[in-house]
Amino acid sequence: MQHISSRLIHGLPDSQSSDLNRSLKTPIYETASFDFETSEDAEKAFTGESDAFAYSRISNPTVTELQNRLKWFSNAEQCLCVSSGMAAISNVFLTLCSSGDNILTSQYLFGNTLSFFSKTIRSFGIEARYTNLEEPQSVLDNIDTNTRAIFLELPTNPQLIYFDVPAIAKIAREKGIPLIVDNTVLTPYLFSCKQNEVDIEIFSNTKFVSGGATSIGGTVLVYGSDKWANNPKLAADYEKFGKDAFYKRLYKEIYRNIGACLSPNNAYLQLLGLETLTLRIDRIMENTLGIARFLQEQALVQTVRYGALENDPGYAMAMQLTKGKAGCLIGLELKDKATCFRFMNALQMVRRGTNFCDNKSMILHPASTIYWDFSREDKQKMQISEGMLRLSVGLEAIEDIKTDIRQALSVL
Ligand SMILES: *Cc1c(COP(=O)(O)O)cnc(C)c1O
Repeated sequence: MQHISSRLIHGLPDSQSSDLNRSLKTPIYETASFDFETSEDAEKAFTGESDAFAYSRISNPTVTELQNRLKWFSNAEQCLCVSSGMAAISNVFLTLCSSGDNILTSQYLFGNTLSFFSKTIRSFGIEARYTNLEEPQSVLDNIDTNTRAIFLELPTNPQLIYFDVPAIAKIAREKGIPLIVDNTVLTPYLFSCKQNEVDIEIFSNTKFVSGGATSIGGTVLVYGSDKWANNPKLAADYEKFGKDAFYKRLYKEIYRNIGACLSPNNAYLQLLGLETLTLRIDRIMENTLGIARFLQEQALVQTVRYGALENDPGYAMAMQLTKGKAGCLIGLELKDKATCFRFMNALQMVRRGTNFCDNKSMILHPASTIYWDFSREDKQKMQISEGMLRLSVGLEAIEDIKTDIRQALSVL
């Protein structure tokens, strides 16, 4: 099978007949624990000599199938699925960082990720340095011997900025620091972390993978790297496991102790989602570009941000990194907050909701929701204006989306 769509539907060749009853769908192993035929088998499972299943907080056949398909999808060395996108982020940073360490990131972050950095890990003595990642010199200036990672989202949400990933990856390579990308908006289908020297990829399965917001889940993908040798916390693991040092520490310690495992039922739903992922994304890319162009023609819409639009500031980078398939999010600017609210309230099909990369089109006013408790100055710094809306374009017939937007604009 050459094409990713066929692979995601059929799974790995050697797993096609692995089910005892030749079930065509991966069975849901709703069990906490597994039986061993002999005590020797139990011992081997615990020492790691065999990969037999022992306990579902550690591994489960349904979750393993999802991990295998995502690993294949992304060409990563290892894959670990966890209970949410946030669990993926917390597992990664708790594996990499100790008190006194710092990480470099941008101020343009998913709300809970920002809160995790500025509150949760901060209280353990880990500092997030909010750096201008659009300026390579600023990245260099902020790196010191305690810097354990550079972390970014692509594109940022809701600003839709495309960072120069190759330039940042070059700095990360020269300094021996892992580059971590949150690839939730694009997925490995639209942006290849493997080809862009990313060391750890994380994403929320809740969005594109689940397909239609059926369940919460998250993924950590690890690419082969020797950078682990430079991290004092992982140095001993590196001597033992080499390129696998980070994954071993994550899987053998942090993941088990945090306990944010993915439930088998959610893994099943996400396997179902994965089967139609490329079909859905292809359609959503067509719809999103069509809607972005349509919005540009509307007099009441002051600006439209979408990386695949020729006049967008992110266009050149979006073309280079995603071949112009710039995800499902459009940023649009109306006159002010009141206008945004009237427009949103007049929409009849497009939902007012916080999810995105969903089958349904959805719209949100970031300033009054995700960023409601930030000051006006902070919002300005984050480029969150009062007239900004974030539209996530769904799978519906594009004419229906246009009709709804047109009638809601006519109310203004
Ligand atoms: C949704 C999201 C997350 C968190 O994922 P959950 O599954 O909701 O925990 C992290 N990063 C980005 C970019 C997201 O959109």
